[in-house]
Amino acid sequence: MTHTTMTRTTDATSNESTVASNANQPSETSGGTHIQIDEVRKTFNEGQIVACDDVNIDIDEGEFVVFVGPSGCGKTTTLRCIAGLEEPDEGRILVDGTDITGLKSKDRNLAFVFQSIALFPHMSVRKNIRFGLDMNTDLSKDEKNRRVEEVAETLDIAPMLDRKPSALSGGQQQRVSLGRAMVMEPAAFLLDEPFSALDANLRDHMRVEVKKIQRELNTSMIFVTHDQEEAMTLGDKIVVMDDGHVQQIGSPYDIYNDPTNRFVADFIGSPSPNLIEGTVENGSTGLSFVTDVGTIPATDEQTAVMKERVGETIIYGIRPEYLSLDSGPGTFAADVDVIEPLGDRDAIHLSANGTSLSALTSQGEIPRHTDRVQVELETEEAWLFEKSGARIT
Ligand code: ATP
Repeated sequence: MTHTTMTRTTDATSNESTVASNANQPSETSGGTHIQIDEVRKTFNEGQIVACDDVNIDIDEGEFVVFVGPSGCGKTTTLRCIAGLEEPDEGRILVDGTDITGLKSKDRNLAFVFQSIALFPHMSVRKNIRFGLDMNTDLSKDEKNRRVEEVAETLDIAPMLDRKPSALSGGQQQRVSLGRAMVMEPAAFLLDEPFSALDANLRDHMRVEVKKIQRELNTSMIFVTHDQEEAMTLGDKIVVMDDGHVQQIGSPYDIYNDPTNRFVADFIGSPSPNLIEGTVENGSTGLSFVTDVGTIPATDEQTAVMKERVGETIIYGIRPEYLSLDSGPGTFAADVDVIEPLGDRDAIHLSANGTSLSALTSQGEIPRHTDRVQVELETEEAWLFEKSGARIT
């Protein structure tokens, strides 16, 4: 049974399960809404806990933006500030250029979806979807029914309108939850880990569904998750957060290919990138980057940067797909710990002189019982980070 629902919220002090809205306003769903988060800071416990700070994010009209980061990084608090469920200590929230920071949640015309709220089990699907309209609008019965039926068509649950939630699958219940919010025709949707209670297959399916719906409605959506794969699948724009701060904002490709720091590089992508610590040495044979796995060759650009850092410890980051298992000059030996079939590719988990590495190869490229390989790094694809994590090149 799904425990997720969408709801309109009332105000920062209210019970979040309350459904309230301005749904009798004209629809603003089409075309999307521009949301700006401007220098937002929110603390708890009289300033002792900084949940988020210096948060600046622009959500363009019709954009699907995902906030991603580890537990406690401040993504939910940021979302709740947008919803009006938390009041920022500093900063502003703007919707289509209007400052709404002081507005009550119910006056924001934003639909907030969060986990752990069940559908009303004693009500039919139709009544569940219509609930917010019944409670908070004076729309005519015909108009309410029109909206419910239109939304049910979009969500492909029209034949189930007279069933009780218990007679639906988890995915269908999830769609009812979406329907409850959609009938309110909000200016934007805010979703907080809405699929985390679903099993893996259903979660994959619902991701596609929600993305399709967002495209169809052409609405702005902000989606919070700790799952980097979910973020990559859904986001037009991804906001990576850590420790209350935005680390990077960009398209999935930007974030994956060009991480701004070690944290982002490490957090995004599976298997995680190889992060190899080493020292820049200037010996009789010239400049070299010496690591536990051996001396790693550098491109001209990397060499230029290293020249400035002789004696320093730096981190060489490279994604598993840029390790090729090849022999010849410039390669080093590694033991094969585990070969993990991923479908079209295999993840090869290696140890090279005590350092764990992973490589991605095409399916079956390495025979199952191989125990030692030679590894080559496509060094032009590598990043260099300072020990502190800041990106050097
Ligand atoms: P999760 O994925 O676990 O929900 P998150 O990234 O959404 O994490 P937040 O829930 O925003 O993180 O929390 C950020 C920080 O603020 C955490 O340290 C959390 O413990 C703290 N925090 C959040 N809400 C409150 C609260 N009402 N009172 C005190 N501390 C809070």
